[in-house]
Amino acid sequence: MKKGFAETGLRDLLNTGEARLKIAGVDEELTINPVPDSPCRVACPAGVNVKAYVGLIAAGNFERALAVVRATNPLPGICGRICTHPCEAECRRAEVDQPVAIRALKRFIADYARAAPQAKLPPGTPRRDERVAVVGAGPAGLTAANDLVRFGYRVTIFEAQDKPGGMLVWGIPPFRLPRDIIEEEINSILGLGTELCLNTRVSDPAQLLKDGYRAVFYAPGCQKAIKLGLPLEDELSGVLDSLTFRVDCLPAHPGGDAGSGRGGCCRRGRRGADRLSHPAGGASSAGRQDSGTALHPQYIG
Ligand code: SF4
Repeated sequence: MKKGFAETGLRDLLNTGEARLKIAGVDEELTINPVPDSPCRVACPAGVNVKAYVGLIAAGNFERALAVVRATNPLPGICGRICTHPCEAECRRAEVDQPVAIRALKRFIADYARAAPQAKLPPGTPRRDERVAVVGAGPAGLTAANDLVRFGYRVTIFEAQDKPGGMLVWGIPPFRLPRDIIEEEINSILGLGTELCLNTRVSDPAQLLKDGYRAVFYAPGCQKAIKLGLPLEDELSGVLDSLTFRVDCLPAHPGGDAGSGRGGCCRRGRRGADRLSHPAGGASSAGRQDSGTALHPQYIG
């Protein structure tokens, strides 16, 4: 006899803390989770189920752990390297000794998947006729495309630049976020069946609706740097924020030396400025000290 939800659902709830309910006529299953989310999950901007994937890693089930992360975050290798891990600040284990290394564990399973072909995502199957346009191939646009394809939509991403990735590429230096990691994670999303149009700037998203797209997800990215809030910062010529400096002054080093972060940005910005002073490259650290750039000792970390 087929078991009803009262029986199977209750068993799942007792065993896993979660149960799934299928409602006739609704494609997606409803997840019932009466246990409040853990503080680490609440702190995670992507809502990753930290407790589940850390437990699965501890049990040696790496593929399942990766699937748990990918359910809400399709960029585990990238976040495993550059996320500021607010989850760890909320980790209760800190009350005993130190927080669980949540971000590093994410990086571990992402790297494990790189070496394990069976852990790659299978292509999605379009189950709906509606087409959705995503404007911007940065982390937000890529994540939206990933989720929409998984829901069965036909997705086209429009990107103004000649490569996808947005600030992952233009704002973060390769030594902090290797380009092959970005490429592989983007390719795994595109491999689900997403169409990507590069060098295509969308100036009128409403036109896409007229062109037949059912919806537009607009993710033009974080195009503004954080200002320091110093007097005359905007008025004096030659005073540039980190992003302007990176994009306008270091075109030969996309995603190169100057990048995100505050103190780090100072250091990388200085290194970038040194390269401008020494176009042949290879300026030694002593050379950098003589290059004419000055950094207040307070900001050297
Ligand atoms: S490392 Fe970042 S993405 Fe991963 S669980 Fe923590 S906050 Fe979320």
